[in-house]
Amino acid sequence: MSSARHILIVNSRSVHQPLFVVGAPHSGADLIGRALKASPGFHVTMGQPSVLRTVYAFARRPSMHEGRTQAAAAVMRDAFAQAWQVTPHSCLECTPQCRAAAGLAADAVGPCVELRGLERFGDASPDLIYCAEALIDAFPDARIVQVVRDGRDVVASMLADPVVMSWFRPSFVNVDTEFPNPFFGIETEEDREAWPQLSPPARCALRWRWSVRLAARLHHSLPADQLKTLRYEHLMSKPDEALSDLSKFAGVTVAAAEIRNEARTEARLGRTRGRSRGAASAHQRSLSGQDIARIEKVAGEELRRLGYTSLTPAARRAAWTNLGSHVPPAGRPA
Ligand SMILES: [Zn+2]
Repeated sequence: MSSARHILIVNSRSVHQPLFVVGAPHSGADLIGRALKASPGFHVTMGQPSVLRTVYAFARRPSMHEGRTQAAAAVMRDAFAQAWQVTPHSCLECTPQCRAAAGLAADAVGPCVELRGLERFGDASPDLIYCAEALIDAFPDARIVQVVRDGRDVVASMLADPVVMSWFRPSFVNVDTEFPNPFFGIETEEDREAWPQLSPPARCALRWRWSVRLAARLHHSLPADQLKTLRYEHLMSKPDEALSDLSKFAGVTVAAAEIRNEARTEARLGRTRGRSRGAASAHQRSLSGQDIARIEKVAGEELRRLGYTSLTPAARRAAWTNLGSHVPPAGRPA
């Protein structure tokens, strides 16, 4: 099918190679979205209501869209046709992060981008990852930036986020009625049976695990010029190198100030909390050995495949106790 049929016109500009930033919650997708938004000529939306409505419909009830690729793609394009419109009030309903990234005051109405010079469109809404495949159907020339972060750090951040944790409230959980359930990371009958007994860290780890498996699927189905995988850790340890990579992929010079700031903060936090054994990552600062063992039990294979193998001494002891032979060899130093 010709991709010309999919062209979307927004503010009399045709949408060309829209860029979407996806990742498990707290993987750094929002950070990259903010950096892209600060790049001239790039209109990046975050949390527009039309997009969030669509994202959650896809994420929570994937069975509704199954086998209806064309209809789903049309719904998706409509959502972005609304979200990307630049009007005097267009950022009003975005998230506070979107307004802040545009340099707007909290009570300012926008617009969050200058129409003059506007060339590219993108979106970095929370939980956009659940629509990654539908985005490609909707925009065959889409560019996807996928951010990957150590699952233990992701879980540590998820546990500390009341919004993320509120999805686990019984009134929201739909693991009985929706199966498989990407949103909760439930893929097999075995996952579904285990779910009621899982601890909160294990439930978060399941969500992370699903994002890693999706990453592998996208790698198989998309050419390298359409998919870029960034590691959060690379972004934090070598921001300039990671951003130059991202700029090449996105075809714009990505503003670096905010990411450099975040990298400095992260380095400072790691040094002050983890002095005894070098810089500590988020999970070493806040998770117990038992929590880490629970995460490893659910997502150990994915962690190892991505090279996230360093365990704290306490975690290693707990892992030995709980998991026996599943303990990986000592990895790189933390
Ligand atoms: Zn906005």
